Amino acid sequence: MPETMFDYAIEATKTLQQADPELARQVQIITPSTNPSLADLQVSNAAGAIKQQCAASLWPYKLVCWVLERLLSSNNTSNGSFNLQTNTTVTSVQPYDGGWLVTTPRGEIKAPKILLCTNAYTSSLLPTLHDIIVPVKGEMSALIPTPNAKLQRSYGFLGHLRQNIEQDDYLVQRPIAEDGSGGELMFGGGRAYATNAGVGISDDSTIDEPAAAYLRKEILKVLDIQGDEPVKELKASHEWTGIMGFSRDSHPWVGCVPEEVAGGNGMYICAGYTGHGMPNAALCAKAAVESMSGKRDEIDLPRSYWITSERLSKAREMLTVKDADEAAIRNP
Ligand SMILES: Cc1cc2nc3c(=O)[nH]c(=O)nc-3n(C[C@H](O)[C@H](O)[C@H](O)COP(=O)(O)OP(=O)(O)OC[C@H]3O[C@@H](n4cnc5c(N)ncnc54)[C@H](O)[C@@H]3O)c2cc1C
Repeated sequence: MPETMFDYAIEATKTLQQADPELARQVQIITPSTNPSLADLQVSNAAGAIKQQCAASLWPYKLVCWVLERLLSSNNTSNGSFNLQTNTTVTSVQPYDGGWLVTTPRGEIKAPKILLCTNAYTSSLLPTLHDIIVPVKGEMSALIPTPNAKLQRSYGFLGHLRQNIEQDDYLVQRPIAEDGSGGELMFGGGRAYATNAGVGISDDSTIDEPAAAYLRKEILKVLDIQGDEPVKELKASHEWTGIMGFSRDSHPWVGCVPEEVAGGNGMYICAGYTGHGMPNAALCAKAAVESMSGKRDEIDLPRSYWITSERLSKAREMLTVKDADEAAIRNP
């Protein structure tokens, strides 16, 4: 049995080397005696590091706006096929005349098929999934960098202080402009310090101060960015929270919701990314839409992502999201 989190990481890397040697070639185990060293990676205090060659960062809001603007501008008829209603909460979905009745404060819509991409909030419309996709509040900050914080890479930190293996911290730096402005350190996590570790919380209207304080202070301990005049904590230009949708068996739920769960036919879902939707949500949505359009074969989606009655039953035999999170055990 591995003894430390770094031992786990080494084991996981070895498993990857066996399962996918080509992918594993992008991954390098860094110990105090390797080249590059932990100090080269600016993580001198770490027990070790796993360096990965390829990574990407993006501003999700800009991506989503770009997608929506393109869809809106492609509607060149008065009967446009794309209709966007922002700030319009769906308060209920009910089976109706072989299809669905979607109720909002601004009126009702009838549709033969509907797709729930409501992620953490799915159980507000489909209460039977309350124990399958669970809201988890995450804390984020944009921290003003120290003068020498010019990072070459993005980071994920595991196991700092009392954080368990499911409570990682993550860091991406914004670009630094020619005049030296920008470069904010987008640092998130600190969940072990948040109320209930954020589990079961769907209100993102407040920040969680202990988690926010952890982020402002601990970044200086996990990363070598102190300048000539050491500071105790960084200032945040912005702090906020967001709600992730944790899946009971750790995989997203995609496809046609079984009739006995939805109460009718023609309800589809893509949700439950357990905080990792960026590399997952777009292709899950494509698969869900292909499935809605009646395409049956060759939909490119891992089998473990499809929602079925059997998978739901199996997931319910696993630890609850809260118990798994507390025990630092990842289902399945
Ligand atoms: C703090 C934080 C950090 C994260 N960091 C990363 C990361 O580094 N990498 C990564 O891959 N992922 C990350 N994620 C997760 C990622 O943001 C999500 O997986 C992704 O946003 C899921 O996309 P989505 O469209 O399915 O759901 P969401 O982006 O949650 O969108 C769901 C939408 O549905 C709307 N909605 C819900 N219910 C209703 C209703 N009844 N009526 C109308 N609208 C409704 C909501 O308002 C929301 O706009 C992070 C999440 C948080 C909160």
